[in-house]
Amino acid sequence: MAHDHDHDHDEEHTHPPSDLELRVKALESLLVEKGLVDPTTLDALIDTYEHRVGPRNGAQVVAKAWVDAEFRQWLLRDATAAVASLGFEGRQGEHLKVVENTATTHNLVVCTLCSCYPWTVLGLPPSWYKSAPYRARAVSEPRAVLAEFGTELPVDTSVRVWDSTAELRYLVLPSRPAGTQGWSEDQLAELVSRNSMIGVEPASAPPVESSA
Ligand code: FE
Repeated sequence: MAHDHDHDHDEEHTHPPSDLELRVKALESLLVEKGLVDPTTLDALIDTYEHRVGPRNGAQVVAKAWVDAEFRQWLLRDATAAVASLGFEGRQGEHLKVVENTATTHNLVVCTLCSCYPWTVLGLPPSWYKSAPYRARAVSEPRAVLAEFGTELPVDTSVRVWDSTAELRYLVLPSRPAGTQGWSEDQLAELVSRNSMIGVEPASAPPVESSA
């Protein structure tokens, strides 16, 4: 029913929900109950934030880091400030750290306790991110998890797993795909999926044209 619209259902939530989360839930229940909002519409809206709006912010950040070396340095040093300079600001007390994939290190983000996630740059977390199996296995067998997303890393690439908290959240800076020389930030941002910024997938390869 209306009050049962809970995406976290069967999981123990270690941090109590914030004031904001409680207010949002209360509002949502009320709107649905009064018939002002159709739950299906609401799901569509959530889907939009989960897949489109939210992650597009992160994709812009990544694309800018790929073309602007100075911004990239700033982002790696103080992601909260660098990201805020683009107009994406988080809630108070929430810090963002950007971790960069390199030829030798691949980064993967998880919240082992619950579902902490960098909302300002990625929007709402996907349900698999909040699931108990992901939260446990991202730490115990990250390569197996990556393989399930179709991501096979070279054996000599090390996998570094970052455990998010309410105070510190992580965003992966994926490697810039080959064959994208001269691309604009907007073009590059199209290659940056939500999953690549969680670290379960690489950024997309450019559509088949010339392979440089
Ligand atoms: Fe959490």
